[in-house]
Amino acid sequence: MFLTQKVFLEYTGIGATMRVVFLGTGGTYPCTERNVMAIAVQIDKDVVLLDCGEGTQRQFMKSNVSFMSTRWIFITHYHGDHFLGLPGLIQSMNLNDRKRAIDIFGPAGTRDLMDFLLNAGHFAPCYEIVSHDLEPGDEVALEGFSVLVAKADHTVPSLAYAIVEKDSPGRFDTKKAADLGIPEGPLFRRLQRGETVEVGGKRITPDQVLGPSRKGRKVVYSGDTRPCKSVIELAADADLLIHDATLLSSEGEIASDFGHSTCKEAGEVAKMAGARALALVHCSPRYKEQAALVEEAKASFPDVFAPSDLDEYVVKRVQK
Ligand SMILES: [Zn+2]
Ligand SMILES: [Zn+2]
Repeated sequence: MFLTQKVFLEYTGIGATMRVVFLGTGGTYPCTERNVMAIAVQIDKDVVLLDCGEGTQRQFMKSNVSFMSTRWIFITHYHGDHFLGLPGLIQSMNLNDRKRAIDIFGPAGTRDLMDFLLNAGHFAPCYEIVSHDLEPGDEVALEGFSVLVAKADHTVPSLAYAIVEKDSPGRFDTKKAADLGIPEGPLFRRLQRGETVEVGGKRITPDQVLGPSRKGRKVVYSGDTRPCKSVIELAADADLLIHDATLLSSEGEIASDFGHSTCKEAGEVAKMAGARALALVHCSPRYKEQAALVEEAKASFPDVFAPSDLDEYVVKRVQK
């Protein structure tokens, strides 16, 4: 029985919508309440997919996001609950006559693994599939945003990712523009794009008619990890931190042994990073209810939630 979809926060900002769809929120293996890890971050019309556990394509079909809109995939590490959905998803895109290329990023070994997966069985892709090995410190520049890469602290090589939207120009002050004698039309657009223009022999710079630039949004996904400095630094001032919260503190020793965080530790990371909101994911199949998980993280970080599969979080732009 799948839970109904929830929207946690209405988008009221400017520019493109940034919507996080929690396709799978469970750790280790799928259970009746949760599928394994996959998070779709929809920015305007394209989707960045963070991890792709087994069954991700069916989760897409139950959500409001088409799997065909996936343009970039970032895998945190190669434990099965984070990547076994890749071959099925890629082959279904082929059957749906995909034409657009897809880029798949992950830690060292991604290119070799993708070569293996794409050559398993009888499969001839009809679209371009490009895979990339990443290292901590890399930055992947995409359209309107970039993805920053940091080291996570897990039992195998694992990466954490930050999706960072570019800052937008400030608000255009039409009154100031009129006072400066700028005619409405193409010159407005050029100033908004950051260009200097000339009106009646006078040079007009964008800062004369634009307000302060508007900060881009930031969504961070830790993947599987112990609490660590590199993820805290990556998550500095994040609008949303999605963090490993596999177990409650009563199972803290197991969390530590298997390279995971407790809900309490996830709350502490969010607090240290100065994040605006925290989503607890990769919850152990042993927990059928999320209330206790949220309660534990809340002790150090109040703006926390534990999404169910297919829940959405719309990231709002705030003036920082
Ligand atoms: Zn995992
Ligand atoms: Zn893992």
